Amino acid sequence: MNDCIFCKIVSGQIPGKIVFETDEVLAFHDVNPVAPVHILVVPKKHYSNLHELISNEKSLVEKLFESIDRVVSDFEISEKGFRIIMNNGEEGGQSVPHLHFHIIGGTKLGNRLV
Ligand code: AMP
Ligand code: ZN
Repeated sequence: MNDCIFCKIVSGQIPGKIVFETDEVLAFHDVNPVAPVHILVVPKKHYSNLHELISNEKSLVEKLFESIDRVVSDFEISEKGFRIIMNNGEEGGQSVPHLHFHIIGGTKLGNRLV
């Protein structure tokens, strides 16, 4: 997508602090971290939301979660604990319309909704 900020990070048009990469997945630091560890994990291909991803490329879900598992290992929060969040759609609070998982950790997390 032409004016998608995460597509621009994927293509290198704008800089991202990349921490992990495969052919299909990119992980980079959130520019506005809410915890000591705040990494975004995105498919390199633009999918706006969960439904679009599942409808077109279900197998990518496994690869995204494998990448999440790798990142939490690299940041040494795999055992200590962390939270994965996907804001989906307007009522879900999604502000960047390129599907992404937030990995949040590195501290005792509060603000739980569930
Ligand atoms: P969401 O509100 O779930 O769509 O999350 C979007 C996230 O993208 C927010 O946490 C922003 O801080 C983050 N973000 C926006 N622009 C950038 C950028 N250029 N590099 C890294 N993270 C960004
Ligand atoms: Zn995009």
